[in-house]
Amino acid sequence: MLVLHYTGMPTAAAALDRLCDPTARVSAHYVVEENGIIWRLVPETQRAFHAGSSCWENESDLNAVSLGIEIVNPGHEWGYRPFPAEQMSALQELCRDILCRNLIPPHRILGHSDIAPDRKSDPGELFDWRHLARAGIGIWPQPPPGVARSRGKGVGVVARAAALADLAAIGYCVGAAKDAVVVAAFQRRFRPERWDGRLDAETVQRLHEVRAAYDRARRP
Ligand SMILES: [Zn+2]
Repeated sequence: MLVLHYTGMPTAAAALDRLCDPTARVSAHYVVEENGIIWRLVPETQRAFHAGSSCWENESDLNAVSLGIEIVNPGHEWGYRPFPAEQMSALQELCRDILCRNLIPPHRILGHSDIAPDRKSDPGELFDWRHLARAGIGIWPQPPPGVARSRGKGVGVVARAAALADLAAIGYCVGAAKDAVVVAAFQRRFRPERWDGRLDAETVQRLHEVRAAYDRARRP
Protein backbone atom coordinates (compact mmCIF):
# COMPACT_ATOMS: atom_id res chain seq x y z
CA MET A 1 0.00 0.00 0.00
CA LEU A 2 1.15 3.54 -0.71
CA VAL A 3 -0.24 6.33 1.49
CA LEU A 4 0.07 10.02 0.61
CA HIS A 5 0.02 12.72 3.28
CA TYR A 6 0.62 16.41 3.66
CA THR A 7 2.96 17.49 6.43
CA GLY A 8 0.51 20.01 7.94
CA MET A 9 3.23 22.11 9.56
CA PRO A 10 4.22 25.76 8.99
CA THR A 11 7.52 24.94 7.24
CA ALA A 12 9.31 22.01 5.62
CA ALA A 13 12.13 22.35 8.18
CA ALA A 14 9.68 22.00 11.07
CA ALA A 15 8.15 18.92 9.45
CA LEU A 16 11.56 17.29 8.83
CA ASP A 17 12.61 18.02 12.42
CA ARG A 18 9.49 16.38 13.77
CA LEU A 19 9.72 13.37 11.47
CA CYS A 20 13.33 12.84 12.59
CA ASP A 21 12.58 13.28 16.30
CA PRO A 22 12.46 9.81 17.91
CA THR A 23 10.31 11.08 20.79
CA ALA A 24 7.59 12.27 18.37
CA ARG A 25 6.99 8.68 17.22
CA VAL A 26 5.94 9.77 13.74
CA SER A 27 7.88 9.00 10.61
CA ALA A 28 7.50 8.48 6.88
CA HIS A 29 9.56 6.83 4.20
CA TYR A 30 9.81 9.96 2.08
CA VAL A 31 9.26 13.71 2.23
CA VAL A 32 8.71 15.78 -0.92
CA GLU A 33 9.37 19.51 -0.57
CA GLU A 34 7.51 22.19 -2.52
CA ASN A 35 10.61 22.84 -4.68
CA GLY A 36 10.78 19.14 -5.62
CA ILE A 37 13.57 18.05 -3.26
CA ILE A 38 12.98 14.50 -2.01
CA TRP A 39 14.20 13.18 1.35
CA ARG A 40 14.38 9.50 2.16
CA LEU A 41 13.96 9.10 5.92
CA VAL A 42 13.13 5.42 6.37
CA PRO A 43 14.24 2.51 4.13
CA GLU A 44 11.35 0.88 2.27
CA THR A 45 12.05 -2.42 4.00
CA GLN A 46 11.32 -0.89 7.39
CA ARG A 47 8.09 0.20 9.01
CA ALA A 48 7.35 3.89 9.45
CA PHE A 49 4.73 5.44 11.75
CA HIS A 50 2.59 7.46 9.39
CA ALA A 51 -0.87 5.87 9.10
CA GLY A 52 -1.91 5.72 12.76
CA SER A 53 -5.27 4.19 13.55
CA SER A 54 -6.59 3.45 10.07
CA CYS A 55 -8.55 1.04 7.91
CA TRP A 56 -8.94 0.10 4.25
CA GLU A 57 -10.64 -2.93 2.68
CA ASN A 58 -11.42 -4.03 6.26
CA GLU A 59 -7.72 -4.22 7.00
CA SER A 60 -6.11 -2.31 9.87
CA ASP A 61 -2.54 -1.92 11.15
CA LEU A 62 -1.70 -0.35 7.82
CA ASN A 63 1.77 0.82 8.86
CA ALA A 64 2.80 -2.82 8.62
CA VAL A 65 1.88 -3.01 4.94
CA SER A 66 2.41 0.49 3.61
CA LEU A 67 4.94 3.03 2.45
CA GLY A 68 4.22 6.62 3.45
CA ILE A 69 5.07 9.82 1.59
CA GLU A 70 4.77 13.19 3.32
CA ILE A 71 4.17 16.03 0.86
CA VAL A 72 5.17 19.39 2.28
CA ASN A 73 2.16 21.70 2.64
CA PRO A 74 1.08 23.77 5.66
CA GLY A 75 -2.28 22.00 5.53
CA HIS A 76 -5.70 23.17 6.66
CA GLU A 77 -4.39 24.37 10.01
CA TRP A 78 -1.53 26.60 8.79
CA GLY A 79 -2.67 27.94 5.41
CA TYR A 80 -3.56 25.18 2.98
CA ARG A 81 -2.32 26.02 -0.52
CA PRO A 82 -2.03 24.37 -3.95
CA PHE A 83 0.79 21.87 -4.49
CA PRO A 84 3.33 23.45 -6.89
CA ALA A 85 4.09 21.84 -10.26
CA GLU A 86 7.73 21.11 -9.26
CA GLN A 87 6.49 19.23 -6.22
CA MET A 88 3.89 17.26 -8.19
CA SER A 89 6.40 16.18 -10.83
CA ALA A 90 8.93 15.14 -8.17
CA LEU A 91 6.20 13.18 -6.40
CA GLN A 92 5.20 11.53 -9.66
CA GLU A 93 8.79 10.44 -10.30
CA LEU A 94 9.10 9.12 -6.76
CA CYS A 95 5.84 7.15 -7.01
CA ARG A 96 6.88 5.63 -10.34
CA ASP A 97 10.19 4.65 -8.80
CA ILE A 98 8.48 3.06 -5.77
CA LEU A 99 6.04 1.18 -8.02
CA CYS A 100 8.95 -0.27 -10.00
CA ARG A 101 10.35 -1.80 -6.83
CA ASN A 102 7.14 -2.74 -5.01
CA LEU A 103 4.09 -4.61 -6.20
CA ILE A 104 1.42 -2.07 -5.18
CA PRO A 105 -1.88 -2.34 -7.04
CA PRO A 106 -3.60 0.95 -8.02
CA HIS A 107 -6.52 0.38 -5.63
CA ARG A 108 -4.04 0.48 -2.76
CA ILE A 109 -2.61 3.92 -3.57
CA LEU A 110 -4.46 6.15 -1.12
CA GLY A 111 -4.65 9.39 0.78
CA HIS A 112 -4.41 9.48 4.56
CA SER A 113 -8.02 10.72 4.72
CA ASP A 114 -9.15 7.62 2.78
CA ILE A 115 -7.85 5.32 5.51
CA ALA A 116 -8.55 7.57 8.53
CA PRO A 117 -11.53 9.73 7.49
CA ASP A 118 -12.58 10.52 11.06
CA ARG A 119 -9.18 11.93 12.02
CA LYS A 120 -7.45 13.14 8.89
CA SER A 121 -8.10 15.36 5.87
CA ASP A 122 -4.74 15.07 4.11
CA PRO A 123 -3.56 15.40 1.40
CA GLY A 124 -6.88 17.22 0.92
CA GLU A 125 -9.10 18.63 -1.79
CA LEU A 126 -6.34 20.67 -3.48
CA PHE A 127 -4.26 17.59 -4.15
CA ASP A 128 -4.38 16.65 -7.83
CA TRP A 129 -5.14 12.93 -7.93
CA ARG A 130 -6.15 13.27 -11.57
CA HIS A 131 -2.59 14.37 -12.41
CA LEU A 132 -1.13 11.23 -10.80
CA ALA A 133 -3.74 8.92 -12.34
CA ARG A 134 -2.87 10.24 -15.81
CA ALA A 135 0.69 9.11 -15.09
CA GLY A 136 -0.59 5.65 -14.15
CA ILE A 137 -0.46 6.18 -10.38
CA GLY A 138 -3.65 5.37 -8.48
CA ILE A 139 -7.23 5.54 -9.67
CA TRP A 140 -9.13 8.68 -10.62
CA PRO A 141 -11.68 8.05 -13.38
CA GLN A 142 -12.56 11.06 -15.52
CA PRO A 143 -16.25 11.98 -15.06
CA PRO A 144 -18.19 11.66 -18.35
CA PRO A 145 -18.62 15.09 -19.97
CA GLY A 146 -21.86 17.01 -20.29
CA VAL A 147 -23.87 15.29 -17.58
CA ALA A 148 -25.82 17.73 -15.43
CA ARG A 149 -26.13 16.52 -11.85
CA SER A 150 -27.66 18.10 -8.84
CA ARG A 151 -25.26 19.06 -6.13
CA GLY A 152 -26.23 19.58 -2.51
CA LYS A 153 -29.70 18.07 -2.39
CA GLY A 154 -29.85 14.71 -0.57
CA VAL A 155 -31.06 11.47 -2.16
CA GLY A 156 -33.62 8.88 -1.01
CA VAL A 157 -33.11 5.88 1.22
CA VAL A 158 -32.57 3.34 -1.58
CA ALA A 159 -29.98 5.47 -3.38
CA ARG A 160 -28.32 6.11 -0.04
CA ALA A 161 -27.99 2.40 0.74
CA ALA A 162 -26.55 1.73 -2.72
CA ALA A 163 -24.11 4.62 -2.29
CA LEU A 164 -22.85 3.28 1.04
CA ALA A 165 -22.41 -0.13 -0.58
CA ASP A 166 -20.35 1.53 -3.32
CA LEU A 167 -18.19 3.26 -0.71
CA ALA A 168 -17.50 -0.07 1.00
CA ALA A 169 -16.81 -1.79 -2.34
CA ILE A 170 -14.22 0.86 -3.17
CA GLY A 171 -12.46 0.03 0.09
CA TYR A 172 -13.64 2.65 2.58
CA CYS A 173 -14.36 1.23 6.02
CA VAL A 174 -17.99 2.31 6.32
CA GLY A 175 -19.21 1.91 9.87
CA ALA A 176 -15.83 2.66 11.44
CA ALA A 177 -16.76 6.38 11.32
CA LYS A 178 -19.90 8.45 10.75
CA ASP A 179 -21.23 8.07 7.19
CA ALA A 180 -20.93 11.80 6.48
CA VAL A 181 -17.26 11.75 7.44
CA VAL A 182 -16.49 8.87 5.09
CA VAL A 183 -18.51 10.52 2.30
CA ALA A 184 -16.53 13.74 2.82
CA ALA A 185 -13.25 11.81 2.48
CA PHE A 186 -14.51 10.31 -0.78
CA GLN A 187 -15.56 13.77 -2.03
CA ARG A 188 -12.22 15.39 -1.16
CA ARG A 189 -10.55 12.90 -3.41
CA PHE A 190 -13.03 12.28 -6.21
CA ARG A 191 -15.35 15.34 -6.26
CA PRO A 192 -13.14 18.00 -4.67
CA GLU A 193 -15.36 20.96 -5.64
CA ARG A 194 -17.57 20.26 -2.66
CA TRP A 195 -16.85 18.02 0.31
CA ASP A 196 -19.80 18.60 2.59
CA GLY A 197 -20.37 14.90 3.40
CA ARG A 198 -23.84 14.94 1.82
CA LEU A 199 -24.92 12.14 -0.47
CA ASP A 200 -26.29 14.36 -3.23
CA ALA A 201 -27.11 13.04 -6.71
CA GLU A 202 -23.72 14.10 -8.06
CA THR A 203 -21.84 12.26 -5.29
CA VAL A 204 -23.99 9.14 -5.76
CA GLN A 205 -23.24 9.12 -9.49
CA ARG A 206 -19.54 9.71 -8.84
CA LEU A 207 -19.52 6.79 -6.40
CA HIS A 208 -20.87 4.51 -9.14
CA GLU A 209 -18.15 5.66 -11.55
CA VAL A 210 -15.36 5.28 -9.04
CA ARG A 211 -16.59 1.89 -7.86
CA ALA A 212 -16.65 0.65 -11.47
CA ALA A 213 -13.05 1.83 -11.90
CA TYR A 214 -11.95 0.07 -8.69
CA ASP A 215 -13.78 -3.11 -9.73
CA ARG A 216 -11.95 -3.03 -13.07
CA ALA A 217 -8.61 -2.49 -11.33
CA ARG A 218 -9.17 -5.46 -9.02
CA ARG A 219 -10.07 -7.88 -11.79
CA PRO A 220 -7.21 -10.34 -12.36
ZN1 LIG B 1 -1.24 12.17 7.16
